[in-house]
Amino acid sequence: MKITRAKRAHKTLSFYSNNFGFRQPYQVLIDGTMCFFALKNKINLQEQLPKYFASEVKLLTTQCVIIETEKLGPSLYGAMLIAKQFPLHRCGHEGNPQSGSTCLLSMIGKINKNRYIVGTQDRDLQEKLRLVPGAPILYIHQKAPTLEAPSAASLKRSDKVSQAKFLPEKQSGENVDEIKRRIFGASKEEEKPVFRKKKIKGPNPLSCKKKKKQNSSVKNLPVIEGKVKKNRTRKRVKVASHIKEHIKSKVGDS
Ligand SMILES: [Zn+2]
Repeated sequence: MKITRAKRAHKTLSFYSNNFGFRQPYQVLIDGTMCFFALKNKINLQEQLPKYFASEVKLLTTQCVIIETEKLGPSLYGAMLIAKQFPLHRCGHEGNPQSGSTCLLSMIGKINKNRYIVGTQDRDLQEKLRLVPGAPILYIHQKAPTLEAPSAASLKRSDKVSQAKFLPEKQSGENVDEIKRRIFGASKEEEKPVFRKKKIKGPNPLSCKKKKKQNSSVKNLPVIEGKVKKNRTRKRVKVASHIKEHIKSKVGDS
């Protein structure tokens, strides 16, 4: 078996697993046409299918399929013998047998809730199955079992399924940033602007700049300016007039 075939089958199975809940062992419903082609191409389905799927596979058929092959006579005798090897799945037509295709279509229904894969070479049945979302088709092509790529109906439904996964978040009105904030808390980057805003509310930055210039001009002056500063502070000290006179008189005495 070529690697590309195995990869393609794995990809298709993954699609049905992810979007329609298919699980191992995969249940494959085999009809008379599949048995006929298997015999013609010398394919042992019981051996080949688990290898092709690289998974556990459960091959099944129905009473209706077996009755149909019996009715078709000697040409389908070999196919009937193959079909009889598979376990019978109850189809609900006991006592009122249907054609193989009608039987299998009724088992698939509108949504294939039991997740069957249908093994058939019947073109009409394949066409009808392609209209059912999540109904994989298996057939024999170039002497090898082949799992058909998902039909348009399956792809369309899978889009709705993936969209539905995102809907709860959309409905809650949260965007990605809000979800991040809820899970990880506010990031440091987000906190910074809050402080910046508070700083802006403080003194007028223009007046600050002017003061800075004045201060720097004072600082740039010679060291003598330090003394000037000290004198300025001393000037502010209030000295009673009688003490000033006393000091003056002392200075005068000396
Ligand atoms: Zn049936």
